[in-house]
Amino acid sequence: MRKKEMSRREFFADLAKKLEGSGEMTTREDLKGNKISLLGYGAMRLPTKDGKHANTWAEGVSSAAIDQEAVNEHVDFALEHGVNYFDTSPAYCRGESERVMGEALSRHPRSSYFIATKLSNFAPQQYPLEECKAMFENSLKALRTDYIDFYLLHAIGNGGFETFSKRYIENGAIDWLLEERAAGRIRNLGFSFHGDPKAFEWCIEHHDQYRWDFCQIQMNYVDWLHAKAVNDRNLDAKYLYETLAAKNIPAVIMEPLLGGRLAKFNYAVASKLKGMDAEASIASWAFRFCGTYPRVLTILSGMTYKEQLMENIATLSPLKPLTQHELDTLEEAAQLVLQNNTVPCNLCQYCMPCPYGVDIPGVFDCWNRACTEDRLPNDPANARHAENRRKFLKDCDKAIPHLRQAEHCIGCGKCLSHCPQRIDIPRRLDAIDRFVANLRKEERHA
Ligand code: SF4
Ligand code: SF4
Repeated sequence: MRKKEMSRREFFADLAKKLEGSGEMTTREDLKGNKISLLGYGAMRLPTKDGKHANTWAEGVSSAAIDQEAVNEHVDFALEHGVNYFDTSPAYCRGESERVMGEALSRHPRSSYFIATKLSNFAPQQYPLEECKAMFENSLKALRTDYIDFYLLHAIGNGGFETFSKRYIENGAIDWLLEERAAGRIRNLGFSFHGDPKAFEWCIEHHDQYRWDFCQIQMNYVDWLHAKAVNDRNLDAKYLYETLAAKNIPAVIMEPLLGGRLAKFNYAVASKLKGMDAEASIASWAFRFCGTYPRVLTILSGMTYKEQLMENIATLSPLKPLTQHELDTLEEAAQLVLQNNTVPCNLCQYCMPCPYGVDIPGVFDCWNRACTEDRLPNDPANARHAENRRKFLKDCDKAIPHLRQAEHCIGCGKCLSHCPQRIDIPRRLDAIDRFVANLRKEERHA
């Protein structure tokens, strides 16, 4: 029998109880011996005043201002509970994330937290060295600091090796970053990897020259062994992690929840996890999975809502490493997740805007919600098949205006090179469009 859903108030009370009973946040040492919290605060999806978040199109674009008070409250709560790693970028939250985080963090002693930010020079006009330097200076100013603890070459490999070379090698940016590290304005230099494996391999081959202090990779229990099932040009997280570990490069983890898809499951997967521990949240397994690997320095989570922060703190205070049986069960869950036919979109919006107006992340989010909740719209074996399909159609129409739905994709491919998940966007939109068109036909003939 399924458990009754908790009300929001009961949920908060339950979380507060969990937190009260928890111990200290697990920490890991960076290469300088600093103690870094295993949970890192990702400032990519900061809360906005309308109760949504600043980096999603999931329920319509939130153009509301970021809720500075809510961010301050998160930062205070995080620091109070041992979270000391804060990850931002000039590109997050429409360029507002660094400024907002600077305001929240600077209310605390500088030695009580570590800032990670990035050289997010994605646009070709940002490639010249002078532009890169200006971006770095802006970051210092916005973050109200005179040094950055962890500075990253952002999303190397996104757009292919040639783009990577233009952004960082040919313009002399890496050499300049080494100088900044030597001068102490950058304490740790690393890179985040998305995309072309050649960029990752190049950085690893040049490790003796650059001495990377850390590397940010996508890791979760689906990508561990099955990244190629999503896209055969992807590298499995196991390979990435082990390659870094062999070079003694600590790993910072992004996408532990695979864009939120490992936080909510349909009944088949959820019951598998509940069978191991009925009280544990679905998301907690994903965090414990990453933390079980000892060369993981910190696990980033974009926590828009305070309850997410509370829950993640409780999960990692302290970390309970997974047993072999639990790891095996998560692998079984990963295989079930892959059967869900979800799109590996993490709602980052890098593909937007589409020149033809398609709300790409919105469409994928709607599809994924339907596939991961207990109502697979494309599964005739589901007892509530017809009802679920109608609900899916209604949800889509509610969330996305008609002019922004999948049918308006003309397949121009302009979005493709921007997607760090390397999703074949036009192909997936076409499949969703055909599915929706059939549903509409069914509706008309019902
Ligand atoms: S391929 Fe489709 S979704 Fe992508 S930019 Fe072109 S029209 Fe937009
Ligand atoms: S399709 Fe790709 S680029 Fe667009 S929001 Fe999803 S993950 Fe990001």
